[in-house]
Amino acid sequence: MAEGLPATMRALIKAEAGPGFRLVEAPLPAYGPRDVLIRVERAGICGTDLHIYEWDTWAAGRVRLGRVIGHEFMGQVAAVGPAVRTVAPGTRVSGEGHIGCGHCYCCRTGQGHICDRVDIIGIDVDGCFADYVRLPEENVWPLRPEVPDEVGALSDPLGNAMHTVMVDDVAGRSVLVMGAGAIGLLITAIARAAGALDVVTLDVNPRKLQMARAMGADAVQDARDPEAPAALLARTRDGRGFDVLLEASGHPAGIRMGLRLLRSGGWAGLLGLPAGEMGLNLAEEVIFKGITIHGVNGRKMYETWYQVEDFLTHGRVRPEAIVTHRFPLERVDEAFAALRGGEAIKVLLEVGEAADASWVARTG
Ligand SMILES: [Zn+2]
Ligand SMILES: [Zn+2]
Repeated sequence: MAEGLPATMRALIKAEAGPGFRLVEAPLPAYGPRDVLIRVERAGICGTDLHIYEWDTWAAGRVRLGRVIGHEFMGQVAAVGPAVRTVAPGTRVSGEGHIGCGHCYCCRTGQGHICDRVDIIGIDVDGCFADYVRLPEENVWPLRPEVPDEVGALSDPLGNAMHTVMVDDVAGRSVLVMGAGAIGLLITAIARAAGALDVVTLDVNPRKLQMARAMGADAVQDARDPEAPAALLARTRDGRGFDVLLEASGHPAGIRMGLRLLRSGGWAGLLGLPAGEMGLNLAEEVIFKGITIHGVNGRKMYETWYQVEDFLTHGRVRPEAIVTHRFPLERVDEAFAALRGGEAIKVLLEVGEAADASWVARTG
């Protein structure tokens, strides 16, 4: 153990097979010769964490009890294994939470984001809702000085959004963004910055729609409004539909509506996860229209990370505003309540020194 490190740390774990997390005193993560130990400063709560918090069927089938939760974070390198070459203690970093096996077909053909045996921090291995988290050196991403701490903590969802926008061409095209949660909002901002001609964002939450405007949407629309489809089609050339659908709602109704509003020959990037199987008129909505569908999973390692860094350092995307709530680790239940209630967009947990500044629960 490196000098100056405590023997134990605070960690939020999934303690029992039911709702909630427990804050415990746990040993520091063991780190090997090629690993980096990071002192977490800020960690983001995402929809996946909500599933684990509530302990739904997916979570119960995948997450082992005792697991330290959390996969979105930024912090400082606290210690490195003897074989680590690229980062040193004190470096401000975020990191890719999908740890590829490095040996499967996908990993060995440059597609580590769809690794057969991926370990995701906070799900399959211990995560970042703790004072310290361990990552392999190659997963550690040093943050440029221009990137503020809170934006660094958004690296994971920023990467999901970037991957979705960059999976095909958006420049000069009309883009429909389905869903204005954190990732839908980031998709809105990135699509705009990547040269989309007309970006329209849909949701059912007025507060999120207002935020979508602030993130650069040319128009927003309540997806439940019965007049919405006609109004949206009227924006497009000859009412033919949008060139591109970027799907971040995961709701079957949203996915179906998005595909219906897509023009013949258009393309869709599907990132939102429906809870189970869903019905779709494949012949009418996809095949006859000659639509191309891209499934989007995680972030490309590490092309997506370079793209996010470039957009941030050139000031093309300013995602700070999506962080609406901040809580210290101890108040995790309030953090999840804010998320579940729909008033929060992105909630950050402040860990260690970041939490010393008194916590603020803003409604934006
Ligand atoms: Zn996430
Ligand atoms: Zn692999």
